[in-house]
Amino acid sequence: MYIMEYLFILFSFLFGTIVGSFLNALSFRFNTGKSMMTRSSCMVCNTEIKWYDLIPGISFILLEGKCRSCESRISIQYPIVEILTGVLFAGIYSIYGITIESIILFILFALMVFIFVYDYHHKIILNQFVYPLIFLSFLKIFVIGNTSSINYFDIYSVYTAIGLFLFFGAFWFFSKGTWMGLGDAKLAFAIGLILGPINGVSAIVLGFWLGALVGLGIMFYEKVIRRNNSLGMKTEIPFAPFLLIGTWLVFFFNISLF
Ligand SMILES: [Zn+2]
Repeated sequence: MYIMEYLFILFSFLFGTIVGSFLNALSFRFNTGKSMMTRSSCMVCNTEIKWYDLIPGISFILLEGKCRSCESRISIQYPIVEILTGVLFAGIYSIYGITIESIILFILFALMVFIFVYDYHHKIILNQFVYPLIFLSFLKIFVIGNTSSINYFDIYSVYTAIGLFLFFGAFWFFSKGTWMGLGDAKLAFAIGLILGPINGVSAIVLGFWLGALVGLGIMFYEKVIRRNNSLGMKTEIPFAPFLLIGTWLVFFFNISLF
């Protein structure tokens, strides 16, 4: 690989971290009445954050995760989302280079990161974000289509999307929304479009495994370590993060379970 290629991967990573810090701000402000146009401020003491303390990833380390004026802890979400988005963008660039495909995938993945973070916080997948995701997933089929080794015949991706939607929709319907939201079904629809039949189903299965593993881990922690017996099936664990981790693993590493 040429040195320029490494530089471009680094640029994509840095671009991703900037997009990630925007997604962080959006995840904390969306639907709260706070404007995206105001400067970032500490959530505890409200002090406006200086530009040199807003460098993705680096500022968090330099500040040791604390606000410069009141020393209250800054959410670890900030650096995690910034670095995650950076890694995803670097991965997209290293597969597709500077192409229209990459641009579509950058937006697609940014939406997925937002859905991940928002579902983690609020346990809801917003239509305002999952519908654009579905739209872009269709666009991905038309633009990238079969040229990608990841994708299958396009029509099968559509069948997969419908199949996964119905599968999750059935969960939603029969559990009256307690196991799975309809938002999960819409997200699964998009995943079907993005990955096609074999990889799409692999991503969902991976997501279920990860979710079960983490779910059991939390149950073990609460019941055995904290001896909290009030915890039952009621504990809502947001499912979108697991589906999305499954999707990203399959997308980049082409993991096929079949
Ligand atoms: Zn503060």
